[in-house]
Amino acid sequence: MTDAPYPLGGRRVWVAGHRGMVGAALVRRLAHEDCEILTVDRAEVDLRRQSEVEDWLAETRPQAAVVAAATVGGIQANDSRPAEFIYDNLAIEANIIHAAWRCGVEKLLFLGSSCIYPRDAAQPMTEEALLTGPLEATNQWYAVAKIAGLKLCQAYRRQYGCDFISAMPANLYGPGDNFDLASSHVVAALMRKAHEARIAGDDSLAVWGSGRPRREFLYVEDLADALVFLLQTYSGEAHVNVGAGKDIVISELAALIAEVVGFAGGLTFDPGKPDGTPRKLLDVSRLSELGWSPSTGLRDGLAQTYRWFCEYAEP
Ligand code: GDP
Repeated sequence: MTDAPYPLGGRRVWVAGHRGMVGAALVRRLAHEDCEILTVDRAEVDLRRQSEVEDWLAETRPQAAVVAAATVGGIQANDSRPAEFIYDNLAIEANIIHAAWRCGVEKLLFLGSSCIYPRDAAQPMTEEALLTGPLEATNQWYAVAKIAGLKLCQAYRRQYGCDFISAMPANLYGPGDNFDLASSHVVAALMRKAHEARIAGDDSLAVWGSGRPRREFLYVEDLADALVFLLQTYSGEAHVNVGAGKDIVISELAALIAEVVGFAGGLTFDPGKPDGTPRKLLDVSRLSELGWSPSTGLRDGLAQTYRWFCEYAEP
């Protein structure tokens, strides 16, 4: 299949998972396209139930769909709720992808994660690194489900000719992030902890693990823009990495967040918490050759996220 343009103008586009950080950012971004955005609440359709998904799609007949619905969480949530992470995600993606084929969805974009790559993959990680080695143990459940999702897209493309594509983003952060310390990812967790430490007048900020792992962080508004770009221009079987192109050591991230939040104390490290993968940096050459690159630097993205936190999420 060639990369024939797929204009969104006039099309009905379903954002599955519109209440999540990614889905909400995508709805905001799609508002600038001349398309009709479809969403459905969890109370109305449980995406883990095949018949509910099939009935809803048969009734609403979207032409395009983005699978931004997922059970997600940080290192501790992944490690402690493995059944939810593997079952929910397998069920959601299998139900949506199968029903999308049956209902003739013209274009579907499945969203995975950079944790699909082997723990010890060469850095930066190219798309070809997939399935070349063992996964990181703390998030293997989520990773296996996301690998299955991208394989589902490839299988429906090969057997039925569906234009289903997949994007694998770096660690995400931004407005709409989850700030619950037990289930959040590192940016939201450290931002909330730094904020509370500043208000309480504490002299230190607790960072999990050694502080030595490296992660790549992509601002969610940039991701949403990349997803619209891919929907409109990409039709390949191969999945596409979406990243910022650089990574940062967790201890430096913590210091940067402290600065953005205005917390002047020091950092402590908790070796009782897992480090996870030593490094996760995506090779984004495929996407940049296609013609997209991110526009928000980490400091700016953190400042905007902090403004959002203070306005909407501060407990
Ligand atoms: P991961 O990319 O799947 O490991 O997801 P996370 O965003 O949860 O964690 C990234 C890294 O940040 C790991 O090395 C964590 O140990 C580290 N980290 C440091 N402090 C925190 C924290 O307060 N919460 C979380 N979730 N991670 C933290």
